[in-house]
Amino acid sequence: MKIILVTDSLKNLTHGIYDDDKKTRCGINITKADNVSRCQKGNEMNYLGEITCPKCKNKIAKEMIKADSKKMKALLKEERLKSQNGTDDDSNNKS
Ligand SMILES: [Zn+2]
Repeated sequence: MKIILVTDSLKNLTHGIYDDDKKTRCGINITKADNVSRCQKGNEMNYLGEITCPKCKNKIAKEMIKADSKKMKALLKEERLKSQNGTDDDSNNKS
């Protein structure tokens, strides 16, 4: 998932928003007339430190951890399947 940086000229903060979303992670609708001039979409986020809005930072951090642990679980499952199906030398070496 791609996160785009949104600079907020009113609060002098940088928010984060998903590429296809209308709202920042802290809930600012950047398509609203009041916010269009205030919030400016910028570059893609490279690292979490680029976001200065604490709410956005928190949410995105949690979402990143969630996505990571999902990936880890999938990897672990794959590894387990491999070791079950692969050659199990241990059983042959036991005397
Ligand atoms: Zn925010």
